[in-house]
Amino acid sequence: MKKNVLVLPGDGIGQEVVEPAISVMDVAAKQEGCEIIVTQGLVGGVAIDETGSPLPAETLKLAKAADAVLLGGVGGPKWDDLPMASRPEKGLLGLRQGLGLFANLRPALLSAPLASASSLKPDLVADLDILIIRELTGGIYFGEPRGIETRDNERVGFNTMVYSEHEIERIARVGFELASKRNKRLCSVDKANVLEVSQLWREVVNSIAGDYPDVELSHMYVDNAAMQLVRAPKQFDVIVTTNMFGDILSDVAAMLTGSLGMLPSASLAASGVGLYEPVHGTAPDIAGKDIANPLATILSVGMMFRYSLDIPAAANNIDKAVAEVLAEGYRTADIAGPKDDVVGCRTMGELVIERL
Ligand code: NAD
Repeated sequence: MKKNVLVLPGDGIGQEVVEPAISVMDVAAKQEGCEIIVTQGLVGGVAIDETGSPLPAETLKLAKAADAVLLGGVGGPKWDDLPMASRPEKGLLGLRQGLGLFANLRPALLSAPLASASSLKPDLVADLDILIIRELTGGIYFGEPRGIETRDNERVGFNTMVYSEHEIERIARVGFELASKRNKRLCSVDKANVLEVSQLWREVVNSIAGDYPDVELSHMYVDNAAMQLVRAPKQFDVIVTTNMFGDILSDVAAMLTGSLGMLPSASLAASGVGLYEPVHGTAPDIAGKDIANPLATILSVGMMFRYSLDIPAAANNIDKAVAEVLAEGYRTADIAGPKDDVVGCRTMGELVIERL
């Protein structure tokens, strides 16, 4: 079996964290009888420097032809003064748009040895394993009309939260399907007590629940969901929600785990092509020093095996290898306590490969 993966290291620590992730990907694939053909491409600041564009046409073409895309990160102070339309972040937005990535998957996982890194009490978060699914291409961030205009002699700003039935149904189905492969509980988060768009959201989610009889569906208002995430996060299995609510709740969930360096993500299209990337940015403050934590990117490779390459055994092996390395006490600087063994980015990657 052969699979094509486009790797876009991007900027800053993106360049460093994808290297061990590629090695892990290669080993994990071979163990399951798969060969990964890696192509590298340009995105973000490095693409601006080399081609003048944050997303060269060639990169989008390669991404569309690949089975999956692995991205490091984009941006940095060098490009901060460029006009909005030509900044590195436009490369990432262009990829999301070009590939039709409508579902953003953000797991919040916390292995017991790292529980003390959380701002919550360790027993509330030890062994946390929840998945937040955020709708990524609709809702208030894209709705029209939008703008700032003068009405009755004062300026008024406005945006539109809009969802059509088909947009709600396709993201809800992602939620049901992933919940059915996990602990079979799906919580749909909305604001149906105030917003009509949420009332439709809830109606559509309810209307397809019958197709997934093994999944227990619940609904929660977003304000309560934010509260419950910090009160008792382990009550959740899978959460599905809109673009804006998901943006906020996934960051809340991220902080439950204490470290940005540990959090993977996936963005999926209807076609199955997915973009996999760590949640963190390019960390210019530590770039080039071999101290970045590569585990978020390595765990993103695990998600790639699970959701795009359809080799779940490789995903499980990667998750297990990472858990073992952590259980043995190895830490990069960002997750280290005073008594821990601190290792660099490359060494952390090698340790994961040894455990594989
Ligand atoms: P950041 O996530 O890059 O860094 C925040 C803090 O976390 C820094 O102190 C950094 O050193 C630390 N950190 C992040 N990842 C780490 C890792 N793997 N290991 C150890 N420490 C880590 O966020 P920022 O500082 O707000 O942004 C820096 C640049 O990254 C900006 O140009 C921003 O636009 C860009 N950015 C890109 C993405 C993306 O490509 N998806 C996401 C967020 C920010």
